[in-house]
Amino acid sequence: MRVYELAKQLGIPAKELAERIKLLGIKIKSHMSSLDADTAELVRQELEEEKEKAIAQNVIEVDFPLTVRELAVKLGRRPSEIVQILMRQGKMLNLNQTLEKELAVKIAYDYGFTLREKPKLETVYATAEKDSSSLSPRPPVVTIMGHIDHGKTSLLDYIRKSNITESESGGITQHIGAYQIELEGGKKITFIDTPGHETFTAMRARGANITDIVILVVAADDGVKPQTVEAINHAQAAKVPIIVAINKIDKNPQGVDMVKQQLSKLGLQPEDWGGKTIMVSVSAKTGSGIKELLEMILLEAEMLELKANYQRPALGIVLESKVSSGLGVVTSVFVQEGILHRGDVVVCGLHYGRIRNMYDDRKRALKEASPSSAVEIIGLNGVVSAGDKFFVVPNEKTARKIIEERKAESKIRQPQSAGGNLSSLWGEKEQKEFRIIIKADTYGTLEAIESLIKSIKLEEVNIQVLHKGVGSVNNSDIALAEASQAFVVAFRVSIESKARELAKQKKIQIKRYQVIYEVTTDIKAALEGMLEPEVKVVNLGRAVVKKMFNLSKVGTVAGCIVERGKVVRGAYCRVIRGEKIIANKSKIVSLKRFKDDVREVIQGIECGIVVSFSAVKEGDVLEVFEEEISARRINI
Ligand code: GDP
Repeated sequence: MRVYELAKQLGIPAKELAERIKLLGIKIKSHMSSLDADTAELVRQELEEEKEKAIAQNVIEVDFPLTVRELAVKLGRRPSEIVQILMRQGKMLNLNQTLEKELAVKIAYDYGFTLREKPKLETVYATAEKDSSSLSPRPPVVTIMGHIDHGKTSLLDYIRKSNITESESGGITQHIGAYQIELEGGKKITFIDTPGHETFTAMRARGANITDIVILVVAADDGVKPQTVEAINHAQAAKVPIIVAINKIDKNPQGVDMVKQQLSKLGLQPEDWGGKTIMVSVSAKTGSGIKELLEMILLEAEMLELKANYQRPALGIVLESKVSSGLGVVTSVFVQEGILHRGDVVVCGLHYGRIRNMYDDRKRALKEASPSSAVEIIGLNGVVSAGDKFFVVPNEKTARKIIEERKAESKIRQPQSAGGNLSSLWGEKEQKEFRIIIKADTYGTLEAIESLIKSIKLEEVNIQVLHKGVGSVNNSDIALAEASQAFVVAFRVSIESKARELAKQKKIQIKRYQVIYEVTTDIKAALEGMLEPEVKVVNLGRAVVKKMFNLSKVGTVAGCIVERGKVVRGAYCRVIRGEKIIANKSKIVSLKRFKDDVREVIQGIECGIVVSFSAVKEGDVLEVFEEEISARRINI
C-alpha cells in the first residue's frame, strides 16, 4: 500500500502522513513510497493511539443533557453540521432538542474532544472523601432492636440515666432521635432511639445507614420471638455486627441458656460456646451487666476502626424534622463527617439555611457538634425528610445554586404527563414510570420481592417501589396507589374489605400472589408492554436515479439502476444528494420493470421507483433498507 492511499483511509493529508511516518523511524522517501501490510498496520495503530491521547487531553466540561445547538457551540461547529450528522444516524432532531449523553460524547469524540460532565457543586460538598490521612477515630453508633416488651426502651433509659452526671441530672431531656453518652475515661457511644425495624431498613434503603452496631435485646423470660428473628435479618441485611443483650435476668436467670440455644439455631453462636457473637446477660431493672455491655460495645467499636474526617465541612443525615411554633423548622441531624458549627450554612433536600441555634438532647445550646453526635438545629427554611442527607456549604449563595441544580435535575427526572406532548416539545426521551406497592406476610419475603424488582434495570422505565410493608392491604395503601397510579402486590396477605371496596371504586389493580416468581413474571410482562419495540435497520441495497419521468397514472417515477443489493417494494429508503441526506425515511411505494409491477429488483438492473418523498432528482442516491421490529424481552 502506498502512503497516499493510507493517508486517504485515515483522512489526513498524504504529505503530513509521510512526515509522521518518518518521525516513527520508518524509512520512506515520499508519500508515493509503498509500505508493506505490517508496517501500514503499525502506522495505523500508532496514529490511532496518538489521536486517542490527544482527544483525552482535549476536555470540554459541559452540563448534560445538551441541546444540539449547545453541543455545536461547545465544539465550535455550525449547528446545521451537527443536525446532519444526527440525520445520517437516523435521528431527526432540531436545534433545541436535547440529545442522549452517549451520542453527544460520540460526536465530540469524532471531532477530537472528550466531553466530561461538569462536577456538580453538590458533589464537591456532599461527598465524604475517604482520604485516610485526614481520618480520626469517632464514637460508635448503636441501635437497639428486638421483640416488643423485651426491654429496649428500659435499657436505653437505664444507660442514659446512669450516665448523666450529677450536675446534669436536674436538666430536661428531649427526644432528638439519638443521644450520646460519655463513659469514664472520656469514651463516647451514640445511641439511636429505638427506631423500629421498618425505619431502620427504610433509612438503609435511602443510603442512610448510620448504625455501626446493633444491640439485639432478647428477654430471658420470653426467648426468641418473631421480631427477634426479623431484627437479626434486618441487621444482617445491613451487614451490621450484632451484640446480644439477654435482658430481664433478674426475673429469670435460668432463661439465659435457653436464649443462647435458640440464637445458636439462628446462626448466632455465643462466644463462650466457641462462637463469634458477643452475648451479655443484663437487667435493665437492676442495672446488672450493663457496664459490661457498654465495654463490649467499645471493644467491638475498636475492632471496627470507626473513623471520620473532622477537618472537612460537616455532612450527615436527618433524623427528624418538624415545624415548631415560635421556633420555625426544628431538625434533628446526625453528624457523620466534619464538625458542624452554629452559623454554618446547611443544604438539605430542597431547603437550606444558616444554623441560628443548635441544641443537644438536654436542650443545652451548642457551638459545635462532632462526628457521631446528634443535634437539633434551627434555621432551615423548610421541613425535610428523615433520611435526607445534609451538608455544609460556604455561603447561602452556593446553597441556592445547589438547590437550583437539584430542582433542574428533578424536572428532568420527573415522569412526563400522560399526553407525552411535553416530552416531544422538549425533545427528551420519555421516561415511563412503573410504580408498585408491596404488602407481604414477612419482612423477609418483602425484601426478597423488592430486591428482585430492584434488580430489573431498564433505561426507559423507572421502576419505583412506592411503599412496602408487612400486613394486609389497607385503605392507606389504596389511597397511595390511587394518588400515584401504582400497582398493588399482596403477597400471602389478605385485603381488608374496606380497602377492597375502595380499590374497586378507584379502579386500582391489586393482585394476590403465593409464589415469588409469579410476581416477577407478572411485572416482567407488564414492563415488556411498556417498552418501545426494538427496531433493527437492515440495509438492502442502493440505487442511483438516472432520469425522472412523469407518468400520468403513477406520478413522478425515478428511473434507476440498482448498483448494489436489491430494491424491494414496500421497503424504506434514504434519499442522498451529494453529501446530504435529504430524506431520512421514505417509502418505496411502487416498483416497476418496464410496465410491470414487481416485488424486487436486483443489482445491475434498471427499474422505475416511486418513493413517498416527491422531490427526488436525477443523480440522487436511494439507500434502501428495511426495519425489523421485535418486541423487547426482559431477562430476570
Ligand atoms: P420494649 O417494648 O422492648 O421497649 O420494652 P420496655 O422497655 O417497654 O419493657 C417492657 C416491660 O418490661 C416494662 O414493663 C419494663 O418495666 C419491663 N422490663 C424491661 N427490662 C426489664 C428487666 O431487666 N427486668 C424486669 N424485671 N423487667 C424489665
